[in-house]
Amino acid sequence: MTKAISPRSRKVRVLATLGPASNSVEMIGKLFEAGADAFRVNMSHGDQESKVAVIQAIRSLEKKYGRPTTILADLQGPKLRVGRFADGRVELVTGALFRLDRDPAPGDATRVELPHREIFQAIEIGARLLLDDGKLVLRVEDHGPDHIVARIEVGGMLSNNKGLNVPDVVVPMAALTTKDRSDLAFAIDQGVDWIALSFVQRPEDLAEARTLIRGKAALLAKIEKPSAIDRLEEIIEQCDGVMVARGDLGVELPPQTVPPLQKRIVEVSRRLGRPVVVATQMLESMITSPSPTRAEVSDVATAIYDGADAIMLSAESAAGAWPIESVAMMNSIGNAVESDPTHGDRVHFTITRADPTTSDALAEAAKTIAATIGAKAIVCFTTSGSTARRVARERPGVPLMVLTPKIETARRLGLLWGTHAVHTKDVESFEEMVAKAKRMALRHRLAEAGDSIIVIAGVPFRTPGSTNVLHVVRLLGDELKDYT
Ligand code: PGA
Ligand code: MN
Repeated sequence: MTKAISPRSRKVRVLATLGPASNSVEMIGKLFEAGADAFRVNMSHGDQESKVAVIQAIRSLEKKYGRPTTILADLQGPKLRVGRFADGRVELVTGALFRLDRDPAPGDATRVELPHREIFQAIEIGARLLLDDGKLVLRVEDHGPDHIVARIEVGGMLSNNKGLNVPDVVVPMAALTTKDRSDLAFAIDQGVDWIALSFVQRPEDLAEARTLIRGKAALLAKIEKPSAIDRLEEIIEQCDGVMVARGDLGVELPPQTVPPLQKRIVEVSRRLGRPVVVATQMLESMITSPSPTRAEVSDVATAIYDGADAIMLSAESAAGAWPIESVAMMNSIGNAVESDPTHGDRVHFTITRADPTTSDALAEAAKTIAATIGAKAIVCFTTSGSTARRVARERPGVPLMVLTPKIETARRLGLLWGTHAVHTKDVESFEEMVAKAKRMALRHRLAEAGDSIIVIAGVPFRTPGSTNVLHVVRLLGDELKDYT
């Protein structure tokens, strides 16, 4: 049974990472109902086999709720991670020594596996080892071809597979590891919508992934290395979406540099028309607490005021004690910020200029006309989704409904600001286009009798890249009766 549920009025998208706390069909459904618009499957944790059921569970929402779902498979990339512990976690005591080696046996409070041979060659005495997003700090005192001995300068709890950053030395690693290639092939095979590439350093890193993806998914670049900042515009031009990956970015660079970088990455992404996700530690305290700190709420609100397309939950929804509450909190913050009458003006602080193309001109006009005449929605017919991306980039004040005959397009659009994608049959004529736009706006409760909507399409129909029509349509009373 399809539950009819009207599109969310919220424009910012909520991307929820799945994990042990939320991998079941029931939980995924609850997160969706609480406000999750898209799901991140983190290839850093768990094996491929366990992801099959998770991906199926997400897709099963489509039948139940009659809406496309969006899945982002996040490749681990050349991230250093420690191995596992016999008890799942240990306490590293400040002042003690700790050994990292190549022995795959489960670790304890004195040692753990570090399964990256490159680092044993590259490491230097005196270099810092930052564990678990920099929460723990170790300093190297000795090393050999298969081990590192380090003094614990800042201790704490360390659990299985936590990340390791080595900001003081350059570790020569390929952009896509052997594991990434395997995970990428798996994710494509499973039909995910987006592939995220971690630790992108150069535009060429994306080119390689693009070749392997063969157009089967959109490509998102995670910005978390200083070298990516050096070539930010080129990197963003090469990808379909961007993530401000503040966790690793704030370990590789001093944390106070992250807010200005967040502003810059969001702005460049918006200017270039790429959806941008702000990620990591957004509601961190909700991993263990049912309510967030005021500072966290303010941080999420700032990302929304900056006009980010999506805000992301990591451990809060993947491994925390309050996954549903975390999603519900993101949803509430989104609604509250977007109800603020100053939200529109603040979002338009970033000035996006239309490229000299017909579809950009129409996208810009659609936003302006909607505001001038008080239209209730923009309805866009598209095959590839490119016109929808152009309209979303304009950050219109009204919902954007995208009608597309391609399910892949509908699914990929789930990360875009203010966009409601509907998978539906193509239209053959202008009359059919107008009738369908009205019908769908009514059915999805975006407009009612007496309202105007704006329709954008390409004629001749079924020709990708032909967007050339903008039509203002008024909904009349007698059309309403079938839908109330
Ligand atoms: P991660 O990426 O959660 O895969 O590390 C996000 C980040 O680094 O902020
Ligand atoms: Mn990261």
